[in-house]
Amino acid sequence: MDAFCAETSSPLVQLGLRHLGQALPTLLDEARQQQVSYETFLYRALAVEAQARRQRVLLHRSQAAHLPARKTLEAFDFSFQPSLSERQVRELAGLSFVQTATSIVLLGPPGVGKTHLAASFAWLALEAGYSTFFTSLTALVEDLDAAGRKDTLRRRLRFYARPQVLVMDEIGYTRLNPKQGQLIFELVNARYAGAGSLILTSNKSFAEWGLLLGDEVLASALLDRLLHRAEVLTINGPSYRMKEHVPLLQPPHPLTPKEVMPHQA
Ligand code: ADP
Ligand code: MG
Repeated sequence: MDAFCAETSSPLVQLGLRHLGQALPTLLDEARQQQVSYETFLYRALAVEAQARRQRVLLHRSQAAHLPARKTLEAFDFSFQPSLSERQVRELAGLSFVQTATSIVLLGPPGVGKTHLAASFAWLALEAGYSTFFTSLTALVEDLDAAGRKDTLRRRLRFYARPQVLVMDEIGYTRLNPKQGQLIFELVNARYAGAGSLILTSNKSFAEWGLLLGDEVLASALLDRLLHRAEVLTINGPSYRMKEHVPLLQPPHPLTPKEVMPHQA
């Protein structure tokens, strides 16, 4: 059996069926115990190889897309954020927003799950076969700044304009200089013209984007393009990161002097 799975002369090795080679002893044991038909056995054996290959391709694509660790809607506690419409989120997870090149804007203070939701949508899009790329705004402008020559910069802009889904996370942590603001406007414009979806997250309201981009007129032109086809999800709730600390932040009774100054007798 070992020779069948590992030796170079083995047909499994020659056909590059590495995963099947590893799984074969177990598959054969199961087949003997369950007395499955030849057809079922062959189907199961090939399915093991196909599944492992799909996983490998997905891993490579997720790395190329710079996706953060897998986040899912199943792991998202909607009861913790009543201001967020679960129905709207689940509908977006159906991914029709990609086909209609509709953008998603997630607004809210830190820790409310904006990046979690953006990453969940991006993972779903990637798994569905859509080209996807994930970046923070800071990393994006750093990358564009680093492109010294004009043709390199054009190439980088085309790179970000291309994917069917582009996530631009954390708008609001960096103020842009006029050149950076102009480049981000060009990118949003190019994606609008090329009909690609943007997923943006920001801890700043739209009214504050003028300050972020360093130019009110530019910000209003950008918002005009963006909001023409966009779904805006505003999350007005507590930070999930503070969840464990909520009892400390909101004591169930007024603090006693000992609780306020525990080290003083
Ligand atoms: P934001 O981007 O809004 O600052 P994150 O999405 O980074 O917040 O969320 C902070 C952490 O809390 C992450 O680990 C995220 O997975 C988790 N989280 C946030 N909201 C929820 C939620 N409603 N249910 C489950 N986990 C959540
Ligand atoms: Mg975030």
